[in-house]
Amino acid sequence: MSLTPAHHLFHPAHADAWAHTLTTGIDHLTQHLGKVRGPSTGTPPELAAKLVADVDLDSPLGEVGPALEELSRLYLDDAIWFHEPGYAAHLNCPVVIPALLAELFISSVNSSLDTFDQSVGGTFIERHLIDWTAERIGFAPTGAPGQPLGADGIFTSGGTQSNLQAMHLARDQFAHVAPKRLRIFVSVDGHFSIQKAARILGLGDAAVVCVPVDEQRRMDPLALESALERCLADGLVPMAVVSTAGTTDFGAIDQLGPIGALCRDHGAWFHVDAAYGGGLLASTRRRHLLDGIELADSVTVDYHKTWFQPVSASAVIVRDTSTMRHVTWHADYLNPKDAEHPNQVDKSMQTTRRFDALKLWLSLRIMGPDQIGDYFDTVIDLAREVHDLVVQCRDIEVAAEPGLSTLVFRYRPAGACPEEVSRLNTRIRSALYSAGRSMVAATRIDGQVWLKLTLLNPMATTEQILAIVDEVRSTGAGLLSVEGAA
Ligand SMILES: *Cc1c(COP(=O)(O)O)cnc(C)c1O
Repeated sequence: MSLTPAHHLFHPAHADAWAHTLTTGIDHLTQHLGKVRGPSTGTPPELAAKLVADVDLDSPLGEVGPALEELSRLYLDDAIWFHEPGYAAHLNCPVVIPALLAELFISSVNSSLDTFDQSVGGTFIERHLIDWTAERIGFAPTGAPGQPLGADGIFTSGGTQSNLQAMHLARDQFAHVAPKRLRIFVSVDGHFSIQKAARILGLGDAAVVCVPVDEQRRMDPLALESALERCLADGLVPMAVVSTAGTTDFGAIDQLGPIGALCRDHGAWFHVDAAYGGGLLASTRRRHLLDGIELADSVTVDYHKTWFQPVSASAVIVRDTSTMRHVTWHADYLNPKDAEHPNQVDKSMQTTRRFDALKLWLSLRIMGPDQIGDYFDTVIDLAREVHDLVVQCRDIEVAAEPGLSTLVFRYRPAGACPEEVSRLNTRIRSALYSAGRSMVAATRIDGQVWLKLTLLNPMATTEQILAIVDEVRSTGAGLLSVEGAA
């Protein structure tokens, strides 16, 4: 089917062309999926860059078929596939199908969630999901007894933006204090987006105080208490404490109850970064791991991690709706002060904004929260099983027990010095990428390189994950024998 220029517009008159184009795309992707043989093809950046750079954007192909063929060569053939059991690198999940169905409506209808008059029901679907998440956190709704101003929040592009907005609203509570006197406390294993937020907000790099962790890699509350006391003794102001509920490397969940109490005693904003662990809000077996989260002033939840949603889907949720005013600005043409309808732009750092909430909505309406929570529980169980087997390998060292669904480990042959071990593990990781059968991440502990499995695929089996560890070991042994022979 050849498309005339007019056929490219989404319009009832072109419904046939629309359906045909999308069906062609689904067929193309289905065929492609049948050919995927591993998480990557090991394509190096030079090659990937050249394929794309050679395309002349001023010479359109005119037809869907050839454009999709080209797309396969430039992108799909070498894409990284998160549904492959050999993929265990970063916090990427296979996505649920109801969310993909939602994507069709999100992009085709193309609502913008900034104002009611650009979205109507969409505004209320987003608000209902925020209320639902807030309730699972344990926040009181607006209007509850003794709670004139209850919980609120907004969908964002990701945990980084959610954390930035949370730090921004904490900063707003201390608007009377000079920026250079403000301090944010986060554990040494907290996410770098907190440092970034401090920079973007003009607080400076010195504003972030990194607090040591205990042997379970959780923020040490005693160390936090003395850091808070030192801050006050120095005439500085503890603006916020960021607890991480699921650190990116270890899945460690800070002790939310004791830390919440310290925040109350020291007048600091209490933010919980649950970008990773937030999926526990849907768990029927492990919700208690988040006990104390209800003490937070703000919470980051990434639905595009442990809720199995496509990128982007995240939210920042606050205990008290009035604190959202920090990003409110009234424009006469969009959201005047006397507007008679609710405008989500009043709470968002963005203006035009995708209806990402619909993905979570259709997932909840079709699958229900328990099934999403079960997926997360399944990968947490998987990490535990893999850990218990891997600790028995003589040439594998495990850094810590998994808090959620990651496992930090390294190949460590007998007699190798720490520098050699670091170098070897770096080479193992890139050899795995080049071979394309499996992918792991890397991190550093005390300057040394470790490997990391991040397990977010509920369909992966223990055997499949152990095969990744076996590939790490055989690759390491192979690299050593080549070096020994040289
Ligand atoms: C992933 C992550 C973030 C950042 O979230 P994005 O969605 O990638 O922006 C923040 N905090 C923690 C603990 C994370 O794991």
